[in-house]
Amino acid sequence: MSFPREIRRAIPLLTFLLLSCAAGPRASAGPAQSGSAAREDSARREASDLVIPFGDSGKGGKLAPFFAGTTYDPDVPTPDALLRQPLGTFTAHHHEILAALRAMAAKSPRMKVVPFGRTHEGRELVYVAIGTPEHVRDLDRVRADLAKLTDPRALDGAEADRIVKSSPAVAWLAYSIHGDETSGSDSALALAYHFAAGTSADVTDVLKQVVVVIDPCQNPDGRERILSQFEQGAGYVPNLDVDTMGRGRWPYGRGNHYLFDMNRDWMWGTQPETRARWAAVLSFHPQLFVDAHEMGALDTFLFYPATDPFTPHFPEATRKWWKSFGDDQGSAFDRRGWSYYTREWADSWYPGYSDSWGTFTGAVGILYEQARYGGQAVKRASGEVATYRDAVEHQAVASLANVQTLAKNREEILRDYLAAKRKNVSAEAPGNDRMFVLVPGKNVDREERFVAMLAGQGIEIHRADAAFHGRKVQTAMAGAKDDVEFPAGSLIVYARQPQSSMVKAWLDFDPRYDEGSLNRERKELERKQRSKAYDVTAWSPVHAFDLDGSWCDAADVAKTLVRALPARPRGVVPLSKAGEPVYGWVVDGKNDGAVVFAARGMEAGLQIQVSDEPFTAAGKPFVAGSLLLRRAENPADAAAIVARTAEAAGVQVFETSTARSPDERPDLGGQHFRLIARPRVGVLANSPIDTDAFGHVWHLLDAEIGLPVTQVDAQQIGSYDLRRYNVLVVPDGSGLGSLLKDNAEDLRTWVRSGGTLIACGGGAAAALADPELKLSKVRLRESALGELEKLAVSVRREREAGKKPVDADLLWSGKSASEAASADDESATDAKPDAKGGAKDGTKDGSKDAAKDSTTDTAEKPAKTADAEKSSAKSGDKSDKEDAERRDRWMRTFSPRGVILRAEVNPDSWITAGCGEELPVYFEGSSSFLSELPVRTPVRLAAADRVRIAGLLWPEARERVADSAYCTVEGQGAGQVILFACPPTFRGWFRGTARLLANAVVYGPGAGARQPLGW
Ligand SMILES: [Zn+2]
Repeated sequence: MSFPREIRRAIPLLTFLLLSCAAGPRASAGPAQSGSAAREDSARREASDLVIPFGDSGKGGKLAPFFAGTTYDPDVPTPDALLRQPLGTFTAHHHEILAALRAMAAKSPRMKVVPFGRTHEGRELVYVAIGTPEHVRDLDRVRADLAKLTDPRALDGAEADRIVKSSPAVAWLAYSIHGDETSGSDSALALAYHFAAGTSADVTDVLKQVVVVIDPCQNPDGRERILSQFEQGAGYVPNLDVDTMGRGRWPYGRGNHYLFDMNRDWMWGTQPETRARWAAVLSFHPQLFVDAHEMGALDTFLFYPATDPFTPHFPEATRKWWKSFGDDQGSAFDRRGWSYYTREWADSWYPGYSDSWGTFTGAVGILYEQARYGGQAVKRASGEVATYRDAVEHQAVASLANVQTLAKNREEILRDYLAAKRKNVSAEAPGNDRMFVLVPGKNVDREERFVAMLAGQGIEIHRADAAFHGRKVQTAMAGAKDDVEFPAGSLIVYARQPQSSMVKAWLDFDPRYDEGSLNRERKELERKQRSKAYDVTAWSPVHAFDLDGSWCDAADVAKTLVRALPARPRGVVPLSKAGEPVYGWVVDGKNDGAVVFAARGMEAGLQIQVSDEPFTAAGKPFVAGSLLLRRAENPADAAAIVARTAEAAGVQVFETSTARSPDERPDLGGQHFRLIARPRVGVLANSPIDTDAFGHVWHLLDAEIGLPVTQVDAQQIGSYDLRRYNVLVVPDGSGLGSLLKDNAEDLRTWVRSGGTLIACGGGAAAALADPELKLSKVRLRESALGELEKLAVSVRREREAGKKPVDADLLWSGKSASEAASADDESATDAKPDAKGGAKDGTKDGSKDAAKDSTTDTAEKPAKTADAEKSSAKSGDKSDKEDAERRDRWMRTFSPRGVILRAEVNPDSWITAGCGEELPVYFEGSSSFLSELPVRTPVRLAAADRVRIAGLLWPEARERVADSAYCTVEGQGAGQVILFACPPTFRGWFRGTARLLANAVVYGPGAGARQPLGW
């Protein structure tokens, strides 16, 4: 006998019986009801006497129907007949949902099931299109008509009128993108059946107006993960506690396979599910886009209108129509006596959520948040028992109401849809006189992704056939310029195009809150010490990818429409003179593909050196961080492995016949090349690591770079033989402190014998920087308030190091160091950071610099920041210390919710290979880390006056984060500790800083940590 199977079967039955008992009192306690609602409740009371026999599929049951009064075609099988027990009395698996949909479609001429992609775990993504038999048969014609409205540039008035009058509108209904918010996917079956089988006018009339497209299960991998936990956590006795196993265990069911939050991925398409969905949705040109979620179990139901702030360029039609959709949905809920609310949270600032993305395609985007019961019945604070079937019913009724609103207003909504698209392509619309320009060449890998990302969302991109001038230029990193000559080959995205709203919202460098929203946010922070911001306040992909992008006035340029960048050359470039012996192979370190090549090459047994200076080989210049493979150090079949790896990594490899440099740069056999070692990577997983922070690191290392990754259970670090790893990554999480403390000695020993320990984010970095661990000298700002002034001096020295020419006359004159220093004191104190940024320690060993520094700079005056003045006076005085702490605590209240900041890069460090002199970084929270030599800080946030690039950064927060460390590297014995103040690979968006993490993991063993010498 299969014990768990029996439990699984028994639990929903018991739960159902229990909920039935509760149905009676609840119904009688309800508000005065309309006739139909009362009928439904009486059906519910009848149901309370029922036992649903398993195996009978509930056919004999009398569960209240979701849509009372509708008649159905008996030939189309009901969900209850197709599932192992009645719909909503259990949580259906992805394969059960798909099988049921296909069985219905087999019997209904109105319904078509269309696969459109696969998940990482290989599960099928399907949508279901439902309409009149004619519409379904002619789906391509329906779509072609709507496509003409979407791009009205060639559409004449008569044709537009014909389409608006005759075409059905499209409703795109999408469910459970967060896999553990399960009720939506079950409700999809109720809706599919309703529209596919309904024979009464309430259904047939709607279908004359609307084609309903259902994306029933947006996150099958997440759903299956949580369902296995539901089932494994179930017992024989029903439990109404909202905190039962229904919540699941780490890593829960929210994310997809790599634990990405796909409700944040729409703008980016980092995941295959998103990319497949782009194509599917865009092929339908929907006018309604529903995204159904769940929230806390004790809550009710939230839907739109949404709340402010609204992102600039937010389509007006959506805001206008929210009122009608919201009113109708409210009425549908009122008829049933259900609680709900709108506008209280879920702002419309970050535009890359599912519903916002739908809105930016031209649909009316609507979010649902149903209270989450985790597939069971739960007792609410009032004593009311809410069942999973209730949750499923709420979702279904909500969607039906929305589809009915669309049907009722079809023509007007289509007219508004067309009007918005006409505005998108008109010359007069605000902002349509601008264009975005990307100059390729900074980083080919990211440029390819950037173009694919835009093209995948239907955004038109052109390549300039000739050089042209841009006027009134706003550059991504270098401010405004009147006139810039852009080279031929530059990529152009006109604001004036069918996807205009998307182009403007996605690519805006610095969208800003309106004044009302700013004041409300400030008030909330000052009075309640909490932010109303629902998600990040900045997202610019140009900055996230660190590309050379600008906005300028639109110009008519000779151009070609492109869907992708031309395939770039890859593979081995042979020696110019055939027959010469090969000394080695060289890969340019500029592009991200170099790290992929190094990782995969080492996996394949290649011995790879990484350069710490630019060099020249095979007649070409190579940047610092480029790779060298010497033939003599590699296996006999190296040439074949190199060729294979180059192909897989998408890079070019250049053969060279000599180690001799043709110029003054290093020869290839010398000390500017360091042998790196195959990374054996462990990544801390399990609580208290954030699931998504773990997933983002895992995805980068595994799916993108191609490294095997061991998930090291954070709760069991002590049980691992850490010697088997030479890289240990700690993704972000809170509450890591005690866990790391318990294992501090093991970690120290491991680092000192050559390990590379990497913390990815404020929580992880703060835990590792705890002085008790003796792993790092980096300090959290709040623990070093008495030293801010001294540290400010160190930062200034670091910035100026190597930039000031030696005053030889003064030096040889024999004047004292203090006289020499005071001579240039004024200029030093007033010095603004160089626009190019980038401190140069110039040597491999930062501590030598520290020593040098302190002998020449002893008399420098500290830079006076307001904060330093307040916190440093009379240090040691208790009340001053308390004042400083109080002030810092107040400042932390204003910590940013997700902004893009400017960081200065030390190009001499191996970890910054492939980075420019400045780097936009993602920053969130209060993590302000202070560092000084001998801690090396290859990436440091810029000074206060230039640190903010995008997003809401209050002055208090700006002062706290300016000049703080973003990435630090500290040698410890043979190993090293690397800290990132914020997650460098946040959501897979920030490819600029992800490169730092890639370098740290792949080059770290060898470049920064000595590996044991074999013999
Ligand atoms: Zn959700």
